[in-house]
Amino acid sequence: MQTQARVVVIGGGVVGCSVLYHLAKAGWSDVLLLERSELTSGSTWHAAGGCHTINGDPNVAKLQKYTIELYKEIEELSGQATGFHMTGGVMLASTPERFDWLKSTMAKGRYQDIQSRVITPEEAHEIMPLIDPKQFVGALETVVDGHLDPSGVTYAYAKSARKLGASIETHTMVTDIQRARDGGWIVRTDKGDVACDHVVNAGGLWAREVGRMVGLELPILAMEHMYLITEDMPEVAEINASTGKEVVHAVDFDGELYLRQERGGMLMGTYEKACVPWSIRDTPWSFGHELLQPDIDRIAPSLEVGFDHFPAFQTAGIKQIINGPFTFAPDGNPLIGPIRGLPGMWSACGVMAGFSQGGGVGLALANWITQGDPGFDVWAMDIARYGDWATMSYTNPKVQENYSRRFSIKFPNEELQAARPYKTTPIYDMLLGMGAQMGDSWGLEAPLWFSPDGTRDAFSWRRSTDFEHVKEEVRATREAVGVMEISGFSKFFVRGPGATAFLDRVLACKLPKPGRMTLAPMLKDNGKLQGDLTVACLSDTEFFLAGSGMAEVFYARWFEQHMPDDGSVTLEVVGLGMVGLSIAGPKSRELLQRLTPTDVSNAGLRFMGIQRMDVGFAPCLVGRVSFTGDLGYELWMKPEYQRHIFGRLLEAGKDLGLKPFGLRALNAMRLEKNFGGWAREFRPIYGPLEAGLDRFIAYEKDADFIGRPAAIAERAKGGTLRLRAFVLDAQDADVIGDEPIWHAGEVVGWVTSGGFAHNAGASVAMGYVAKEVADSDGPWQVELLGQRLVATPQHTPLFDANMDRMRG
Ligand SMILES: Cc1cc2nc3c(=O)[nH]c(=O)nc-3n(C[C@H](O)[C@H](O)[C@H](O)COP(=O)(O)OP(=O)(O)OC[C@H]3O[C@@H](n4cnc5c(N)ncnc54)[C@H](O)[C@@H]3O)c2cc1C
Repeated sequence: MQTQARVVVIGGGVVGCSVLYHLAKAGWSDVLLLERSELTSGSTWHAAGGCHTINGDPNVAKLQKYTIELYKEIEELSGQATGFHMTGGVMLASTPERFDWLKSTMAKGRYQDIQSRVITPEEAHEIMPLIDPKQFVGALETVVDGHLDPSGVTYAYAKSARKLGASIETHTMVTDIQRARDGGWIVRTDKGDVACDHVVNAGGLWAREVGRMVGLELPILAMEHMYLITEDMPEVAEINASTGKEVVHAVDFDGELYLRQERGGMLMGTYEKACVPWSIRDTPWSFGHELLQPDIDRIAPSLEVGFDHFPAFQTAGIKQIINGPFTFAPDGNPLIGPIRGLPGMWSACGVMAGFSQGGGVGLALANWITQGDPGFDVWAMDIARYGDWATMSYTNPKVQENYSRRFSIKFPNEELQAARPYKTTPIYDMLLGMGAQMGDSWGLEAPLWFSPDGTRDAFSWRRSTDFEHVKEEVRATREAVGVMEISGFSKFFVRGPGATAFLDRVLACKLPKPGRMTLAPMLKDNGKLQGDLTVACLSDTEFFLAGSGMAEVFYARWFEQHMPDDGSVTLEVVGLGMVGLSIAGPKSRELLQRLTPTDVSNAGLRFMGIQRMDVGFAPCLVGRVSFTGDLGYELWMKPEYQRHIFGRLLEAGKDLGLKPFGLRALNAMRLEKNFGGWAREFRPIYGPLEAGLDRFIAYEKDADFIGRPAAIAERAKGGTLRLRAFVLDAQDADVIGDEPIWHAGEVVGWVTSGGFAHNAGASVAMGYVAKEVADSDGPWQVELLGQRLVATPQHTPLFDANMDRMRG
């Protein structure tokens, strides 16, 4: 066996083989895959082999489309049949809510060029004659859907990779991974050591064990999964004879079933509610080409629905029931990308739909390794969305929840309940006492809105029970003063003699002077956004940065990748070591002044100023900034002071009309300011010019910041997109994100976020549109729940366009 390679990929399942193929295709032929047994020996060999393009996240859908379209390519290159049958399919809805979901999914697919069509139950019956149309209210016909031979696909990747120069060693068990002195890695196996620059963990069912070799506890859990195969069915033979084609694929969401033809019979699988995890902490190395004991009682409730929805199954004999394990991350999306703190260590794990997603995962990872960037939007799959808080004990209930809800609708105002409450701030019980309706913000309980009368969210696609209460929170803030918990932000201190030079390189903005803050876009080498932070200069050697909470590990990974190794800079990832409160509204200054001896008049603390001061008895860092777009302040403190400060604010604010507000009111207020947010308007695929952030880019500053040449080039060429805001003629529902934007009868963009801006009394959508039409008067429309709503461009903010309130 070779003793050196540029990349070692651990695991010869469909994912590892896809990564290997894509590395070799990118021209890196000195790459080696190590498999402890035969290829496909994990989850891969017993998969049902179904593949779909449709996914709730359009970016994941795009990767799924890429994956399915790849099968022809690898079949041709390798000469290995993949057994791919592009049958097309129907996705079935038996409730109006599910039908609404299907319509919105179809709409989202428009700008990704994913073909699908909303059809009636009768039309669905014509396409898929096994269904009882009376059981359904509608369906979606899909095109790029089918099934394949799992083993054929894996070998097609492997043979293609070999043809391009990659190597594969089977029956080679990786036993340990160690850091090499030169900064690379030594992969130890039962056949000897391999020195390499990069290691990819594609260990599938054993990904946790491989992770532990470098001290990682990956948030992954395997679940048992069952599907059955029937004896030959006369109904299937009849469809084959009359159409000359196979029976199309079907997904029956409300029955929690998926179906496809298997030889002369049918294959039916289910994501049962009474799900069972497998090998909760350790996966035995002795587990090989084995199946688990089937448990028909567990899937009986789904099968009963199946018999109603697909009557021909009532008389079909069951030939075989397959039960096998495969892995999931807590949110069901893959865990891919570089591991923070371990340069050259990569994850390609938790891929629960290897035949829909494996190609896209392989491409993204190969791009990332060879070019330093995944090349498209993989935010939803980036392993950096989880930190060390995502323990096995947290992962277990979350994965079970995700599995059992795989085919359930998640309404936009619905919060999942497993593994909660988990992280809380010191004022958690005070907030609950005030009626806080909590949301789960990456493990942290965060108030969404306040219910003074015990009302709860009624889950819906439309405006719901929170509407009037959120409106009242907005009114109180805009007319008087509101207070909000903001502890969930990611927060960092960058310190040391090299701090200024380091931040000048990683941030694209002009650095603020001591006592000042500024918005700080961070760019990648390709000039696209890597972050959207606020940076505050506390002294020449100390800076404080705050950004989106979900990006904490993502930002920390980037900072650490670019920090000098001479010890001149230190990074403190603050987490909940510092918590926060925000006060906003015209009376927020008066409120703050009541609690601090420091002069916080407009002259004493200007807009974007920051100062340490006492608030109540407690030391605080106070910045004059607010995402509400109003006069406002962010107060940062150690956790032990938060209850005291919150209590003092509530007390001192009583006669000013102080009210607590939550994330939904914040959304309503930032929308009427056209303020974008990370992971919505600002994502790693947009450039600063496109995102309207170029006014914060110091193109001409002395420091050579990351992404400057590409950003300058984009500014010269003009990019391809523009972020725009629209007011919609909406009646009882508002956009949430990913809805298509139409211009003169054509889809020219997509919504990034939106909602009802209560103060302005307008339904607002923000989104990207093609540059060429961005400044056109229209006609514009946004498609929402199957209707195209008139959209009016909103070039200036609906609230405080002159910034008198914010700066005054
Ligand atoms: C019953 C069932 C039905 C399914 N149906 C579908 C479906 O219809 N469509 C779909 O897309 N997906 C389906 N899946 C899921 C699919 O099987 C997985 O998404 C996919 O197999 C994951 O592939 P992988 O390469 O990540 O992991 P695995 O297949 O588990 O591969 C990991 C490999 O790594 C090797 N390995 C691990 N540790 C080491 C080590 N230390 N040294 C060397 N080698 C090591 C293992 O031997 C194994 O071969 C199904 C799964 C099951 C169980």
